[in-house]
Amino acid sequence: MAKEKIILTGDRPTGRLHIGHYVGSLRRRVELQNSGLYDKTFVFIADAQALTDNMENPEKVRQNVIEVALDYLACGLDPAKSTIFIQSQIPELCELTFYYMDLVTVSRLQRNPTVKTEIQMRNFETSIPVGFFTYPISQAADITAFRATTVPVGEDQEPMIEQAREIVRRFNFIYGDTLVEPEILLPDNAACLRLPGTDGKAKMSKSLGNCIYLSDTADEVQKKVKSMYTDPNHLRVQDPGKIEGNTVFTYLDAFCRPEHFERYLPDYPSLEELKAHYQRGGLGDMKVKGFLNNIMQETLEPIRNRRKEFEKDIPAIYEMLRKGCETARETAAATLDDVRRAMKINYFDDAELIAEQVKKFSAE
Ligand code: ATP
Ligand code: MG
Repeated sequence: MAKEKIILTGDRPTGRLHIGHYVGSLRRRVELQNSGLYDKTFVFIADAQALTDNMENPEKVRQNVIEVALDYLACGLDPAKSTIFIQSQIPELCELTFYYMDLVTVSRLQRNPTVKTEIQMRNFETSIPVGFFTYPISQAADITAFRATTVPVGEDQEPMIEQAREIVRRFNFIYGDTLVEPEILLPDNAACLRLPGTDGKAKMSKSLGNCIYLSDTADEVQKKVKSMYTDPNHLRVQDPGKIEGNTVFTYLDAFCRPEHFERYLPDYPSLEELKAHYQRGGLGDMKVKGFLNNIMQETLEPIRNRRKEFEKDIPAIYEMLRKGCETARETAAATLDDVRRAMKINYFDDAELIAEQVKKFSAE
C-alpha cells in the first residue's frame, strides 16, 4: 500500500490569529485540505504548548481556544475534511514526548535557533521552564503521533521539523521502522515565510502586539495600515524610497494579485512598476497604503463575515472540537500501540513474552 499523505499543523491559543498565520500557514492548509491530494488533514490548537510559557495565565489560553477555532472555520477549514482538535485532550502526546526525551540531548535542544530567540523574547535566560525548553520534543510527538508526512508552516518552524526528523530517524534506527519522517512545506512566496509586524519588526507575532488580526474590524485594519512602518527616510513624495525592509511592500508581495491593480490602481500595470516608481521618487506612502488597505479589506471581509456566522452557535464549535478530539485520540492511540510494541513495553498484549518467560523459568 502506498504511504498515506497526511497533513498536520497547529497554532498556539495565545491570541486571535493574524495575517502572518494566514500567509505563513493557514491559507495553504485550506488549499491543501481542498486539493484532494491528501488522505487526511489534522489541525490542532496547541494549548499544552501555549501553557509552557503562559503557565501562570491559564485563563488566557482557555479563552483563546475558541478564538482560534473560530479563525480556522472563518478561513475555510472544514471539519468534514479536517480533524480539528485540542492538544491537551490527547494524553498519548505526553506519553510519546516522554519517550522521545530519551532520544534528544540537552545540547541539541540548546542549539535550536528559534527556541534561542524565543527564550530571549520572554526573558527566560536565567530561568527557562523545562517544559518550554523541551517543546520541540513535544512538537515532534504532535507530528509523528498522526504519522504526518507534510507540515505546512512558517519559516520559524524549520528547526522544529528538523528536530522531529532526527527523532524519527533515531527511533526507527534503535527500535525498528515505526515512525514516519515528516517534510516541511514552506510558503512559496518569500514575503510569507516570516511576515513582519506592522511596526517593521522581523515577525508579526501575537506576543509582540504588532498584528493585523483576521477578526479586526474594517476600521481597525485601515488604522493599522495607515500607521504602518515604511521607509523612515522617505519624507517627501518626490524623494526616492526604499522597498527593502518596507513593510507595506512586503505585505503587497504577500497579498497583491494582478487583478487588484485593475480594481484599485489601474494606472499601474504591475507591482514591479509600482515599486519602480516608489524607488524613483514621486509616489507617496499614503497612495501605496490606500492600495494595500483595499487589498486587505477585500481579503479579510469574507473571513470576518464567516466568523460572525460561526459566532452565532458557540456550542456547535465546542461540539465540533470534541468530535475532533475523539478522532484524533483514536489515531494517536494506534500509533502509541506501535511505539510501545517497538520499545518492548507492551507487556500485556504480547503472548510470546509470557510463553518465553514460562520457558525460561521452567528450564531452571
Ligand atoms: P506566539 O507569539 O504565541 O508564539 P505566533 O504569532 O508566533 O504566536 P504560533 O501559534 O507560534 O504564532 O505559530 C503558528 C503558525 O503560524 C506557525 O506555522 C508559524 O510558522 C506561523 N506564523 C506565525 N507567525 C508568522 C509570521 N509572522 N509569518 C509567517 N508565518 C507565521
Ligand atoms: Mg510562535
